[in-house]
Amino acid sequence: MAEVKFVNVIKEFEDEKKGKVRAVNNANFVVKDKEFLVFVGPSGCGKTTSLRMIAGLERQSSGDIFIGNRLVNKVHPKDRDIAMVFQDYALYPHMTIKENLAFGLKNLKTPKAEIEAKIKEAAAILSIENLLDRKPRELSGGQKQRIAVGRAIVRNPSVFLFDEPLSNLDAKLRVQMRVELSELHKRLGATVIYVTHDQVEAMTLGQRIVVMNGGEIQQIASPEELYENPNNMFVAGFIGSPPMNFIKARLDGNQLMTADYTLTVPVGLLDKYKAYQKEEVVLGIRPEDIISLNLLNHQPNHNVIEPTLKVVEHLGAELLFYFNIGEDQVTGRVGADAKLKSLSKVKLYINMEKMHLFDPNTQERI
Ligand code: ATP
Repeated sequence: MAEVKFVNVIKEFEDEKKGKVRAVNNANFVVKDKEFLVFVGPSGCGKTTSLRMIAGLERQSSGDIFIGNRLVNKVHPKDRDIAMVFQDYALYPHMTIKENLAFGLKNLKTPKAEIEAKIKEAAAILSIENLLDRKPRELSGGQKQRIAVGRAIVRNPSVFLFDEPLSNLDAKLRVQMRVELSELHKRLGATVIYVTHDQVEAMTLGQRIVVMNGGEIQQIASPEELYENPNNMFVAGFIGSPPMNFIKARLDGNQLMTADYTLTVPVGLLDKYKAYQKEEVVLGIRPEDIISLNLLNHQPNHNVIEPTLKVVEHLGAELLFYFNIGEDQVTGRVGADAKLKSLSKVKLYINMEKMHLFDPNTQERI
């Protein structure tokens, strides 16, 4: 069992100028055995610090950390049954790849024959057999990345920790390595905890995702759940690209008054919004839920708006288009067959079945 658990974990750093900085504020979560869990959030949100506390490279200020039901607060990193893959790969430049792979095992006093067997197995899994006699400087970024993963595999840990392992690779290689890491996770059957600031990486790799901001966990959920039911405006704006649109509005009966248009709230949703009648709210609508009327078979009789598009961007199969509602800039996304043009007036249908409302003060989803 390689469950990882945080109970009321707080980490504070002493900063010369700012005094105490709380990098992680009261984190509670359980990473399930064999789960692929991704930490995602903007720079400085506390994700790397969380990972380093699991590894034992950073000691929490308070709270408890468990790995496989064992309290590890005082356990040395090398005794935690984890292996970490770093962003810069941290390979030893003067050693061959084979020596790099063997290094950790030699330190653990593993018998030579066993080291040989483990390196052979990892090399086969990662297709790096032909690189074993080279030095790190003779490898491409993608190959170095594979070696860094290989070094973790040979240790056969119960928990793999990845700190932005793909951020030094070009976009194409990143996509390829993403697929490889997913396959590797299935094959190894280990618990993986992975840190990234890239929401696409998080959505494609994570079985569940922890979204962090300012040291606080905002939401822990599956990719689908985060996308469909974000807890608050931060999660709604962070997950999805282009991000969800936020439009100031006022609720009155089943009418939602924005600066320029009155929209109709589906009857089924009204009950959950009843505490916000006659109140200011924020409408959240994703770009793909703003649909060009010329792509619809039926002509809806409400929730049609007719703005002038500021800009239309062609992305090949899709178009992104931008317009304003009051002061709020709105982005829409449609198939290229909609043939929208910049500076033209177009009819757009807002699919209010997919709407969200947020409290403008707390930023929580209503
Ligand atoms: P990034 O994506 O930029 O690596 P992150 O989400 O991983 O960001 P952390 O590295 O965990 O963020 O940092 C969280 C906060 O803690 C930041 O405000 C950072 O400045 C602070 N911090 C991290 N390490 C230290 C340290 N050793 N001393 C002082 N402050 C630190």
